[in-house]
Amino acid sequence: MKYLLVIVLALVVLWLWRSNRRTGQPDRPAPPAGRTGKPATEVVACAVCAVHLPRSDALPGGKGFYCSDAHRRQAEG
Ligand SMILES: [Zn+2]
Repeated sequence: MKYLLVIVLALVVLWLWRSNRRTGQPDRPAPPAGRTGKPATEVVACAVCAVHLPRSDALPGGKGFYCSDAHRRQAEG
């Protein structure tokens, strides 16, 4: 009789776990869709040291983007 209770409990847990996974699946496609909707995360490379950084953090220059003002001055004089 104890084993029957354990089996029923295991089935209930399994069923709850599966129903949680099903409800979790529709939420999964949402984050990637939000990612593609963000053009602000574009990454550019510094023209001097080639370090990659977000475009919002990069310094634009005549010859491209730079990671710092020192590298912009180094490249463009
Ligand atoms: Zn640099």
